Amino acid sequence: MATGETTAAELVEQGLQPRSAAQRLRDAILDEVARLQQEEGLDRTEAIGQLFPSTVLEERTLEVLVTSLLSGSNVLVLGPPGSGKTTLAKAVWDIFPKQLFAVSDCPVHDSPFSLVDPGYAERVPPCPYCKENHGGGEAGRPGSFDAREVDPADVPVRQINLREGYGHARVQGSPEVFPDNLTGSINLARLEEVGDPTSPLVLQPGKILQAHRGLLLVDEIGKLPRGTQNVLLQALQEGIVSPAKSRETFPADVVTVATSNYEDLGNITEPLNDRLANVQTPFPSTAQANRRIIRHGLEGPGRNVPGPYQMAAVRIVMQWRDRMEGGRELSEVGSNRTLIDIVQRTASYAMAADAAQPDPDDLQRAARDAMTGRIRARSGDGFEENRLLVERFLEEHVDEAAREGAVTYWCGFFEDELAGDESSGKRVVEHMRDIVDEHGADPDQWAKLAADGDEDVARFTAYVAERDDLLREQAARRLPAIWRALEDLGAFDQR
Ligand SMILES: [Zn+2]
Repeated sequence: MATGETTAAELVEQGLQPRSAAQRLRDAILDEVARLQQEEGLDRTEAIGQLFPSTVLEERTLEVLVTSLLSGSNVLVLGPPGSGKTTLAKAVWDIFPKQLFAVSDCPVHDSPFSLVDPGYAERVPPCPYCKENHGGGEAGRPGSFDAREVDPADVPVRQINLREGYGHARVQGSPEVFPDNLTGSINLARLEEVGDPTSPLVLQPGKILQAHRGLLLVDEIGKLPRGTQNVLLQALQEGIVSPAKSRETFPADVVTVATSNYEDLGNITEPLNDRLANVQTPFPSTAQANRRIIRHGLEGPGRNVPGPYQMAAVRIVMQWRDRMEGGRELSEVGSNRTLIDIVQRTASYAMAADAAQPDPDDLQRAARDAMTGRIRARSGDGFEENRLLVERFLEEHVDEAAREGAVTYWCGFFEDELAGDESSGKRVVEHMRDIVDEHGADPDQWAKLAADGDEDVARFTAYVAERDDLLREQAARRLPAIWRALEDLGAFDQR
């Protein structure tokens, strides 16, 4: 017996209980929520918010997702393009428990309990290969398998780590994904060579069998042809799958997380949709939540774009979303990806101009590039029409939206720190302008003022640190750039 190998008898002796993929995921979620509550002192809602740290979604969305998974449901994540559906689906894989015991020589890593636990064998039967090799009794004959006749000491077991192809598979929905891609197939040429129809050399497991005992991700499920959707339905309904050209059925114990945008919802067959708990991921409705999306997604130089510009990008995209009139061809234009892209491109334009920081023109050009770059159209004319629509929006609204972003940034300070007091606000603005006159954009001087107890500068530094998620010291050095951004974007313009 190879190292790390044991037998089913040992698992039974240790008192281990069989658990389906859905049960294992549920236990992992409950364990993690309990850990976050105990060790980090979070309440339940906060703990659920921390379960998927790579996502930025509203509380309600996470609550629905988590309760669906806890109830053992398969899930359909629904939302507009670029609202974080795929990220969320991937985050479920991150939390999925990876270690488990499998029958050593099984081509689809069956659970040892499928061979030795009669109750479990009924729910999740072993594959034909396991029945043939370890099934005892009249092995190999359909319908003759009986877990009571199997000696657990004869079932070789090893511990495996689930990974792509073994307990995890991803399907990208498109009309070219045929039923065989999900079911797998029996390789007839190989069959002649090997002679044994149940040999792993003969069976080529499709995506469902690859995901057996783990997680199946189906992106854009509505783009799958009907026949392919029906294969998936059978797997979810009956827990089995039949490879092409095979009369045998294989077990399919999977948790399925699918995604779709609203336009394709009508293409999902009703029985399949009935099997999936719907989780909606709308775009975040608050400026703060949209700002968090930027913070999550930014890389490299984009991280140095001053907060007021980031807020300006948020306002531009939120205004677009408010005004956009549906339409598949324009839905990407206001996506979360666009939002991040505007900020990245703003940084690029400033870098190309060799400027220390962006100016409003950089932002405008970045918004135009990022938004027009995401127009889809079925024809040249349609594209031109859509481009004009986006251009007109930018012409009419981008200045004002950018100013609004800067105002939002300043108002956080004005309301929270200055209690919305007009004369304090005026005084701080005058004081900051004096500092600019005296010290310009020298970060050392501003940091010195913050440290030496200039009260306004110190308070504004504290606000910037909190708002932009910076250390106090970093925030102090960024103050001149942030102040100039507020001025350039027109935060203090009289209207
Ligand atoms: Zn097997």
